[in-house]
Amino acid sequence: MTNAPPAENAFDAARLLSERATRVDLSGIRRVFKLAAELTDPINLSIGQPDFPVPEAIRRGAIEAIEQGANGYTQTQGEPALLRRVGEWLRTDLGWESRPFGQEGPGPRHLITSGTSGALQLLFQTLLEPGDECVIPDPYFVSYPHLATLTGGTAVTCDTYPDFRLTAARVEPLLTDRTKFVLLNTPSNPAGVVATKEDCRDLLDLCRARGVLLVTDEIYDEFCYDEGLTDVARNDSSIPRCASPARLDGAEDSVLLIRGFGKTYGCTGWRLGYAAGPRAIIEQMAKIQQYTFVCAPAPLQAGVRACFDTDMDEHIVEYKARRDLVVDRLSPHVELAVPGGAFYAFFKVPESLGISGTEFVERGLSHNLLTIPGGCFSTKDTHVRLSFATQRRNLERGLDVIVKLATGELS
Ligand code: PMP
Repeated sequence: MTNAPPAENAFDAARLLSERATRVDLSGIRRVFKLAAELTDPINLSIGQPDFPVPEAIRRGAIEAIEQGANGYTQTQGEPALLRRVGEWLRTDLGWESRPFGQEGPGPRHLITSGTSGALQLLFQTLLEPGDECVIPDPYFVSYPHLATLTGGTAVTCDTYPDFRLTAARVEPLLTDRTKFVLLNTPSNPAGVVATKEDCRDLLDLCRARGVLLVTDEIYDEFCYDEGLTDVARNDSSIPRCASPARLDGAEDSVLLIRGFGKTYGCTGWRLGYAAGPRAIIEQMAKIQQYTFVCAPAPLQAGVRACFDTDMDEHIVEYKARRDLVVDRLSPHVELAVPGGAFYAFFKVPESLGISGTEFVERGLSHNLLTIPGGCFSTKDTHVRLSFATQRRNLERGLDVIVKLATGELS
């Protein structure tokens, strides 16, 4: 402890904080939330969760589990019936023969986590020690750099502007002998960009050659809009599946997959996700889960079992139509990488305006429009994120304001 003890009787709680904790900076996002709270009935295009209700079978499953007394802990790796369903889905979707953590036998392992964030937290804790590095895309999901900071490690950002593809060519120069993993997020937050099959293959080849783990955060995997990205069909669904490095031959040895239930089924507050991959890594993650989260919420695990029999196609079709609307309205006026998935668009503030992403968002606020500055997700502040997880009328109103701001009709 380098600080002097407090003067007599004056208790200074701030003196006790770890440097690690104080290095995490919430200011960007907090500022947006504060501004949002000040607006009355804003055109809110900032929301990172779906606007459809949780399907009835899933709600019923959770309610019945509570009524029937499933209110205690589950095993740390999750409830056996849900683990079985996840294992079946990993086989259908990826061709993996994965077993729940704790089972004997060859092959990869999986466990249920407290949200996708829970899985990420366990992963960073498992792999990084002070001085270690991981490579993350820039722009990135807001938590990634901070999860590294909390371990004493570093998230090295890989500039993916302007197309937001995390390619092997961009990642390769960033790898060092301290790199433990590369983190791909497809479809991505904030850009909605989906990795191509070739990008996935090249990244996996690079990671394998360098002895680095490839982590793939696929929380938006079901929100996939474009043909041609598909490499498997889901039963009789007409919705394409996004390409994934986890689907490549032998991937289960060197890919760590993270997925969630919250976005796909509209239950972000239930805090449920799963991780699957090499046994040696999942075993350590399960051990840390035992002493931190203990287990994911028990009755809600029972509820999401029904996810695997629930058809969300009508919502994906609607989100695709909204995606098309966003692209049609914005593309003539701003630089925009077409979002092939998720429910975000990340557009560049026209250089002719001579303002940053934050200043563009502030101009939007004066017209009651809420979006998020690119600087919250990036080392640059040149772009703005909008979410189209909102009713079409609201989206149309918001797009009108954005177009008018971009063309200088409004300021
Ligand atoms: N990864 C990405 C890319 C996300 O966008 C989010 C949530 N916005 C998460 C992880 C965390 O999701 P969860 O709510 O399941 O913790």
